[in-house]
Amino acid sequence: MSTSVLPPLPEMLATLIASNSVSSANPQLDQTNQPVITQLATWFETLGFQVELMPVHTTHNKKLNLIARYGEGTGGLVLAGHTDTVPCDEHLWQSNPFQLTERDDAYFGLGICDMKGFFPLIIEAVKPLLTQTFQCPLVVVATADEETSMDGARALVDAQKKLGRFALIGEPTNMKPINMHKGIMMERVSIFGSSGHSSDPSLGNNALDAMYYVLGDLMQFRQKLASQFNNPLFTVPTPTMNLGCIHGGDNPNRICGSCELAFDLRPLPGMSTEALRDSIRQRLALIAEQRSIDIELNPLFPSVEAFETPAKSPFVQYCQQLTQQQAESVAFATEAPFLRSLGMDTVVLGPGDIAKAHQPDECLPLSRINPFIKILQQLIHHYCISSAGLKVT
Ligand SMILES: [Zn+2]
Repeated sequence: MSTSVLPPLPEMLATLIASNSVSSANPQLDQTNQPVITQLATWFETLGFQVELMPVHTTHNKKLNLIARYGEGTGGLVLAGHTDTVPCDEHLWQSNPFQLTERDDAYFGLGICDMKGFFPLIIEAVKPLLTQTFQCPLVVVATADEETSMDGARALVDAQKKLGRFALIGEPTNMKPINMHKGIMMERVSIFGSSGHSSDPSLGNNALDAMYYVLGDLMQFRQKLASQFNNPLFTVPTPTMNLGCIHGGDNPNRICGSCELAFDLRPLPGMSTEALRDSIRQRLALIAEQRSIDIELNPLFPSVEAFETPAKSPFVQYCQQLTQQQAESVAFATEAPFLRSLGMDTVVLGPGDIAKAHQPDECLPLSRINPFIKILQQLIHHYCISSAGLKVT
């Protein structure tokens, strides 16, 4: 192992930022993450990590996850992040989004805080610790397509990868530990009636009329969920349902033959997306029967479960101690529920600010870098080098 051949931190950050790894449902914007993954693989191999490249078959453009492991045994600490970024409006940036730029005491670049910049910080943190004996492994996980389908994280779950006992995801949280967020479902209701001349309603079956009942029923269901589920630790303490868009019919003098509604539902921890979908299906089936019309409910994309690692988890407690911040919830979704489903106490904690992500001039304040590296070093020391990772079951 020769850490001296690794480039300095700004150079590593610049290399990753320069490597376009936009993931997008729009194939014209979508890029492979291969160059980022192979670059990370080279760096972690140089440090003495065992590196596994995992093809993510559900993605386009031959995307990969990286699993890099240092030390033997079970348990240990996982440091996880995604290698993709959202697309950007280049003309709205003050500097080239694919060129690391330092100004106003911050680094600017697409993915600097959300979140390719996380990986060089891990390298900086672990480099001076490698002379010590690791009792438990340190595992670095870099995923594909978090910003679109979360297929990288789904692939880890499908393969039931044994990664570790505790996982930290370095998404931008302003250095605050996050132990819960809501889930996301985006669903489409399709109503198939039949069209006909508007002068005689018996000539068709009006899908818009049926949609009226569907809308009313969904709003009732929303009310019911809000009265049943409440978690005051969230800024919006109830599950939410947003009726987002509706399309149907073509002309005032035709009976509307079909109508579609798309909505988004954000469940609280403890609510299962599958159970919610079942309940909605049952309610819609009743309307379909009453109106003698076909109604379908389909996910627009695979849902993300809500996430919670209990506040009493020793991992949450230790992250609180290191940051001197109370663990809290966030309004955005992450890969945490997937890592959690692999049996790991998971905390989201990173140096960036989510308010700076997904918009022009994404940046990471320089003042955050050293304190965050210190936090990573304390975590690695606690869970991999001292025997705390072994003791906690
Ligand atoms: Zn992110």
